Amino acid sequence: MIKKFLNKVFKKREQAAVAINEADLNLSQSAKKIPFKKHNINQDLISSAALKTCEGLQNAGFDAYIVGGAVRDLLLDFKPKDFDVATNAEPEEVNRIFRRSRIIGRRFRLVHVLWGRETIEVSTFRGHHDNNQNKDDGSTNDTGRILRDNIFGSLEDDAVRRDFTANALYYNPKTQEVLDFHNGVADVKARLLRMIGEPITRYKEDPVRMLRAVRLSAKLGLKIDKGTEKPIAELADLLQDVPPSRLFDEMLKLFLSGHAIESINILRAQHLHHGLLPLLDVVLEQPLGEKFVMLALKNTDDRILEGKSSNPSFLFAALLWHEVLKAWQVHQKHAPMIPALYNAMDEVVQLQAKKLAIHNRFVSTMKEIWAMQPRFEQRAGKRPFALITHPRYRAAYDFMLLRCESGEIATEIGEWWTTFAHASSEKRTAMLLPDTTPKKRRKRKPKKPAVKEAGSA
Ligand code: ATP
Ligand code: MG
Repeated sequence: MIKKFLNKVFKKREQAAVAINEADLNLSQSAKKIPFKKHNINQDLISSAALKTCEGLQNAGFDAYIVGGAVRDLLLDFKPKDFDVATNAEPEEVNRIFRRSRIIGRRFRLVHVLWGRETIEVSTFRGHHDNNQNKDDGSTNDTGRILRDNIFGSLEDDAVRRDFTANALYYNPKTQEVLDFHNGVADVKARLLRMIGEPITRYKEDPVRMLRAVRLSAKLGLKIDKGTEKPIAELADLLQDVPPSRLFDEMLKLFLSGHAIESINILRAQHLHHGLLPLLDVVLEQPLGEKFVMLALKNTDDRILEGKSSNPSFLFAALLWHEVLKAWQVHQKHAPMIPALYNAMDEVVQLQAKKLAIHNRFVSTMKEIWAMQPRFEQRAGKRPFALITHPRYRAAYDFMLLRCESGEIATEIGEWWTTFAHASSEKRTAMLLPDTTPKKRRKRKPKKPAVKEAGSA
């Protein structure tokens, strides 16, 4: 009887095991395995830090793949900006394997593995959110936005949680195979950006995906698939709920991608520019403001494509400058010119901080660039000599040139400063304009009444 019972149990278990193996088989069959000779990814273009990270994880018995933007960029023959690794090892396990590593994040826990100056971001395969989950690990709000995402899963689960098919490709450096669950390689070859799953649900889970669609299509010259594009206009308002700090990070990526002009054009076409930088839509609707912003973005794009760095403070100072000018005029009714400028700067920064949190370290430089602008109009006496030695002179000067180019101030002012900066000290002195500012008259100290000597009366 007992034997019969045991046989029954074991048979059930065996059957279950066969079923699981079949499921596994289906899982792996649902991914296309693309061999090297089809994708031709050149391993020399992959950072050695990323290769060492995968090797370390694989040697410890885990699965490890290079994933996301890097694989997509390699297929498109772009040099990847950074490398991400996905694994079935949990953050603590990854942390134990690599001596120089640390677990970061709360909403999305992952591990940074450090190799010299390079950091590789290692994330554990993400799983599905279901109703029985622990709220500490995964949760969404009323509109379906994902607030926390620490539920781990299989490789296939991980692929389905990624945003676009082109971003869900897994490259195994050991076998040089690409695993493709959602036809990403075909989409990349067709230069198409296509959302995985149902676009409306995916945008509700994370509205930032709308901005990512714009940025990636501008940066990589990919066309946004029709079904992926269609819901964006009506869901644009969801961006209002995104925390300002996350919005700031995403805007920064967008504007510093080297394709800012193209991004703005797509943002406008998708009606996504309203309410982002709350003032950006206003700025773009004033002819002088628009010209200035576009020139600043063009300037940033050119610098980045030439491999130069671009200072985010400069860019945000430019985006908000015409708002500062407007507020400055109003404040000058109640205060002298310079204090009025400071009041205007504070007002503009405060107003937009509610929606888009510009980091404080950028705000102080933005304000320095703005505050130096009136000083370019003072070209007499010792002032130009002092201005030219200011640590932010270069940024403020470039900013002033954009003001000339956009027609806000006379080009002659920009030319004067360019010549002044390159001139010898005698020539500089000769260039100074006559000092027309009324001289401050020293107030004479009132004569003290003669102190009568004691007892002289
Ligand atoms: P970039 O070239 O700008 O780095 P990227 O696609 O690599 O583009 P990352 O922010 O580095 O962007 O993200 C890495 C990967 O993580 C993406 O390729 C994608 O698979 C996944 N990912 C990032 N953000 C999201 C998101 N909001 N929703 C779903 N998946 C995302
Ligand atoms: Mg990336």
